[in-house]
Amino acid sequence: MESKLVFATTLVLIFCAKSSLAGPHGDHPWCYNTPACDSKTWSGMCHTGKVQSPVDFNTENISENRTQVRLRFNQAYFDVQNRFYAKNNGHTLQVQLEQDLSSKLVMDGDGLKGNYVFSQFHFHWGSTDDKGSEHTVGGKSYPLELHLVHYNDMFKGLGDAVGSKNHRALAVFGIFFKISPNDNWALKPIIEAIAGSQNVQEEASLIHRPLNISSFFPDELDLFRYYGSLTTPSCFEIVHWNVFKKPVPISKAQLQAFRSIKDSHGDNLVDNFRPTLPLAGRRVTEYEVVELDLKPSKTAEDARKPMPDADYEEVMNVLDPKTTSSHGKKSSAAAPRTNFLLLGLLSGVVLFFPKLK
Ligand SMILES: [Zn+2]
Repeated sequence: MESKLVFATTLVLIFCAKSSLAGPHGDHPWCYNTPACDSKTWSGMCHTGKVQSPVDFNTENISENRTQVRLRFNQAYFDVQNRFYAKNNGHTLQVQLEQDLSSKLVMDGDGLKGNYVFSQFHFHWGSTDDKGSEHTVGGKSYPLELHLVHYNDMFKGLGDAVGSKNHRALAVFGIFFKISPNDNWALKPIIEAIAGSQNVQEEASLIHRPLNISSFFPDELDLFRYYGSLTTPSCFEIVHWNVFKKPVPISKAQLQAFRSIKDSHGDNLVDNFRPTLPLAGRRVTEYEVVELDLKPSKTAEDARKPMPDADYEEVMNVLDPKTTSSHGKKSSAAAPRTNFLLLGLLSGVVLFFPKLK
């Protein structure tokens, strides 16, 4: 099946290459928790890079920015997908859509400098509730972090984007999860998929369950944004990171389902997160207000455009600390989140009235 082939090809990765496969910089297998192959031994740019991920977000390194930032997702992003692929690749549970569907999910946003096409999402989680996320806030971890991976549409696909070494090749949205007494309904199709992906898989499972990717977003969209890297070998420095500040819920039972996934040795796959790395002069910007908007299907604005580097240079330079002390800067009052209501309505509608076959 063509879509399965595409899935397998794009999986080769990058984010989660099978430990037995050769990486882009040699055949060193990688893992999280065995000294012979853990993050201290990772190849690629993992130890030579200067702007690595994940990082800790704290009051020392964040520039607050109260200007209004919009994220725009097209209608397909809000549609319920009737089926999806899930795969335990030994490093994470990864979810993709069929290629022709996936390429229809497009987003952009202020400061992103291009259109980004959805590729896949996957999770990082801990063995206990006090760890699991890759990014941390003030040194604190969350028990699970979701990564929604997109590639810039100036590239043909994920592999092409990763190979480019362009610092804006990918836009990854991180979502923290925290323990809640109730199940998170958005995770239900994923938890059901886990049942069929307990052991490491050569091929992804096709899951016939409705999935709404936009339903993972938190109800408040303040985010941390910075430039960094992939968090698994090759650790290429090609990611414009956008991590939502507000965590979304996950029940203990749902978290336990993730912890029941097995690695290639048949042990529980847990603590599949990379430790945080120094910002090394980079600036993290916290956007206080984020409007979520529907992206028009095609506009003149969408035409391929050059990617100006002024703001990239600004946030990446090792700056004089005196010039970076914009934390706490006040400006105009927060704009209303009217468009967020639109998102809520849309996702509610698509959740409760999924398309019938
Ligand atoms: Zn990840």
